[in-house]
Amino acid sequence: MAGTGLFAEIIDGEVYKYYADGEWKTSSSGKSVAIINPATRKPQYKVQACTQEEVNAVMEMAKSAQKSWAKTPLWKRAELLHKAAAILKDNKAPMAESLVKEIAKPAKDSVTEVVRSGDLISYCAEEGVRILGEGKFLLSDSFPGNDRTKYCLTSKIPLGVVLAIPPFNYPVNLAVSKIAPALIAGNSLVLKPPTQGAVSCLHMVHCFHLAGFPKGLISCITGKGSEIGDFLTMHPAVNCISFTGGDTGISISKKAGMIPLQMELGGKDACIVLEDADLDLVASNIIKGGFSYSGQRCTAVKVVLVMESVADELVEKVKAKVAKLTVGPPEDNSDITAVVSESSANFIEGLVMDAKEKGATFCQEYKREGNLIWPLLLDNVRPDMRIAWEEPFGPVVPVLRISSVEEGINHCNASNFGLQGCVFTKDINKAILISDAMETGTVQINSAPARGPDHFPFQGLKDSGIGSQGVTNSINLMTKVKTTVINLPTPSYSMG
Ligand code: NAP
Repeated sequence: MAGTGLFAEIIDGEVYKYYADGEWKTSSSGKSVAIINPATRKPQYKVQACTQEEVNAVMEMAKSAQKSWAKTPLWKRAELLHKAAAILKDNKAPMAESLVKEIAKPAKDSVTEVVRSGDLISYCAEEGVRILGEGKFLLSDSFPGNDRTKYCLTSKIPLGVVLAIPPFNYPVNLAVSKIAPALIAGNSLVLKPPTQGAVSCLHMVHCFHLAGFPKGLISCITGKGSEIGDFLTMHPAVNCISFTGGDTGISISKKAGMIPLQMELGGKDACIVLEDADLDLVASNIIKGGFSYSGQRCTAVKVVLVMESVADELVEKVKAKVAKLTVGPPEDNSDITAVVSESSANFIEGLVMDAKEKGATFCQEYKREGNLIWPLLLDNVRPDMRIAWEEPFGPVVPVLRISSVEEGINHCNASNFGLQGCVFTKDINKAILISDAMETGTVQINSAPARGPDHFPFQGLKDSGIGSQGVTNSINLMTKVKTTVINLPTPSYSMG
């Protein structure tokens, strides 16, 4: 059970503690932030509302701990990460339980998120040992006008303090996707978990604590992003920000100083369906891509662009599958569970009502109880409807009928987002041409968009992000290149 057994020290009465200087602490603010269970809409947990002084203290510790961590042999850093991964996987139950309670993630998917996170940490440790153990050796005479008098040695060095801010929908996985690369590369790490998802993150941080990482190297500051977010992201001690979330990331980018940023933001992933597509495959992928975790995924299918000639048949197939989706509590592994908050449910409802007023065809009756919204397929959506462009982050999938492939590509490219997209066709040549034409970070051919496997590069164009994720890219982003040049008195040619 969450907050008991091995995890008993992370809670003080009914308020979860924050983590600093290798210890679990109660904030001097005397205030806490409530986490509302999205399904029951009742307070489920409480976390500390940390103060600016506590942030300052954590940053100082992070700066000093990083100095000795950078001198810790790479294989030892990797060993500790493997240990943390094993502890995390052995103790998946309390983390999965809190994911169910604070973000209404179906129980089975919650376990999967924790196990996947353990695997990510281990993979990152292995990848780090390989890529950080290698550098480059360059010779000067390859550049015009130079003799062979300079030998250049390059290696990758840490940045310093990395600030990690993940979103609510994969709080554990998207936290470790920042923590593990930062640590293997020799950085220290300050985590600001999402409020919905903070308790799962605190349990995850305790697994790193139990693995025996040095004091102050990892910290976890809790509190509302709207209250402490600016103070954290503009803190002078921060040398890199890795953020995943919505439009907040755009304002953070504008305020952050001259530091590397890894921003993974929203998406409006299009699913382009050609006349020759396998419609059963498309229908299953629209269900998986559009409705899993109730559509609250950055890479959810958020608009279907289908050729008019096959649209009726596809809509019928998807409708039949939507009818089979179960709706209810996350504890029962329902396919569709409550969305994260009342404001999120209200926003989704606003998009649905706008589509209704403008004449979209409702394939099911719109139904909502509290934060629970029944799955909804909207046909005959037109570009003047908000749902054609905005990210619902809920179980609502709009279908736009197109009369040419170009129309589909144009719609996809007119979006301010550019995260992923997908195309369904049996013609691989057409698929490649369409993939090249789509202005998105990734295009999936004959499958729904997806972030994983976690070692694949993952990036958004336009308002969907800066930088690239994926284990290797994250390690590289959290390092700088350092060079040492050996200057010889005369040109030297080996075997010369
Ligand atoms: P969000 O509202 O942007 O919040 C993300 C994180 O930012 C949370 O930890 C939040 O803390 C924190 N935050 C809020 N205000 C802040 C501020 N002023 N300064 C610094 N941090 C601040 O996003 P969300 O609702 O959690 O997640 C949904 C969004 O994330 C969607 O748009 C989705 O597409 C996107 N997403 C993108 C990816 C990707 O990889 N591209 C993956 C998953 C999700 P609090 O919770 O305390 O407010």
